[in-house]
Amino acid sequence: MERKNLLYEGTNKRVYETDDPALVIVEYKDDAIAHNGAKKGTITGKGVINNRITNVLMQMLEEQDIPTHFVAQHSEREAVVRRARMIPLKVTVRNVVAGSLSTRVGLPEGTRLKSTILEYRYKNDALGDPLINRYHAFALEICTREELDVMDRYAFRANAILRTFLAQIGIELVDFKMEFGRLPEGSIVLADEISPDTSRLWDMRTGEKLDKDRFRRDLGGAEDAYQEVFRRIVSNIK
Ligand code: 5GP
Repeated sequence: MERKNLLYEGTNKRVYETDDPALVIVEYKDDAIAHNGAKKGTITGKGVINNRITNVLMQMLEEQDIPTHFVAQHSEREAVVRRARMIPLKVTVRNVVAGSLSTRVGLPEGTRLKSTILEYRYKNDALGDPLINRYHAFALEICTREELDVMDRYAFRANAILRTFLAQIGIELVDFKMEFGRLPEGSIVLADEISPDTSRLWDMRTGEKLDKDRFRRDLGGAEDAYQEVFRRIVSNIK
């Protein structure tokens, strides 16, 4: 598999064409942004860790009947994934109050939720990814009802699988964000990444944050936290 033209470059990743039109190579960078681009920086080693964590978790989900774009790890920082047309939605699952939900409803971070919350944001940098509901998604033709039902099902199922797995390694899955794409024949796959960049992971014993909030909130120690999550995941997989 050879890397060809650069198709897309974002803050966290570059996507390259390959000699197979159905496959692309994703390269994970160490760059990080927060607060919709107002804060910029680097988390050294993040690209390698996020690539490996995402690949392990995607494989785990795939084995439990959630279709993903993942094909194979290509290098330390790269993965081969199926080419998909991305749906401009951020699907967030929440198990515990944190982040923007805490601000929106005025409850302290760490408040337990009686049931799991699913949220949608319309992915649009210029608008700051506004929160929308399912009626907006259909009316704005972001996706069909059938597609959203499939994404909801995959999101709840992924949450159950990941929450159970992470609890076994002493990590509480507070919330996480997913993005989905359409394969050429139209079926929905889980795409993008699942990593400490896109989730809130709290140490179950100490409550310590082991995710991107360390960078967003200038808490320090982001590199060590990402390494710790990686170490625990890998030691439990092999
Ligand atoms: P919140 O809405 O509280 O800011 O984020 C909820 C969850 O989704 C967090 O785990 C957060 O990391 C993830 N998330 C939502 N939007 C983004 C985004 O644009 N970038 C990243 N890295 N994570 C996001």
